[in-house]
Amino acid sequence: ILEITDLKKSFGPLEVLKNITFDVTKNDVVAVIGPSGSGKSTMLRSLVHLETIDGGSIRVADRYLVKNGAYAKPKELSSITARMGMVFQQFDLFPHLTVIENLELAPRLTKREPLDAIKRRSSELLAKVGLSDKSNAYPNKLSGGQKQRVAIARALMMNPDVLLFDEPTSALDPELTGEVLEVMKSLAEEHMTMIVVTHEMEFAKEVANQVIFMDNGHIIETGHPDQLFGNPQFDRTKAFLNRSN
Ligand code: ATP
Ligand code: MG
Repeated sequence: ILEITDLKKSFGPLEVLKNITFDVTKNDVVAVIGPSGSGKSTMLRSLVHLETIDGGSIRVADRYLVKNGAYAKPKELSSITARMGMVFQQFDLFPHLTVIENLELAPRLTKREPLDAIKRRSSELLAKVGLSDKSNAYPNKLSGGQKQRVAIARALMMNPDVLLFDEPTSALDPELTGEVLEVMKSLAEEHMTMIVVTHEMEFAKEVANQVIFMDNGHIIETGHPDQLFGNPQFDRTKAFLNRSN
């Protein structure tokens, strides 16, 4: 469903992504791991066009967001990136909107479906993340874990083909990470296609079917978690895994 080929991205003189190539098949759960500054967030942000890449291709299903460095026409861009939902480290909910309003905002603005369908889905998704009772609460009344579960439900409102997560639990107190990981795990069990940048190695081992190790703008190694964690092929992977244990 996603084909990423030879992505290149620099910030000024700093080359942040060097030759990023990988595929994501429908129903895959891909975990992306690697040291701070290795380019994980930049890679993820590039997929939804929050960063503009300097070279390479990103194909989403049958359409190219960017092909050999040339972006799709402005009109097409948003319909291509709309296939992907993103959940950030800092649950960026709109503070002046209630939980349910946060969920319904984007689909109401796009006006592609009747309001009762939107309302039905928002209450289903709130139930799915276990927050039906918080429907009318404002974000500042929620715990970090609850906010992040709202952010996940909000991303699901647009029916994305792929859900992207950038360290969804790393801003949370340890006792709150579990509830967010549980929601993500249940999405994986329902065969949601996901790319998850994470420091949660246990989650990667248990839930991912592909792990990508990035270092210094490169993909060093990729493989099934049993392979990558159990028998890493490269010294840099070994060193990183030893450090994060
Ligand atoms: P972390 O694990 O700390 O989140 P990361 O792997 O997500 O790290 P990125 O955020 O992608 O790394 O950053 C990669 C490199 O690009 C870093 O050296 C960072 O300082 C640099 N960088 C990121 N965003 C910008 C920007 N907008 N302008 C300039 N440099 C940037
Ligand atoms: Mg990052």
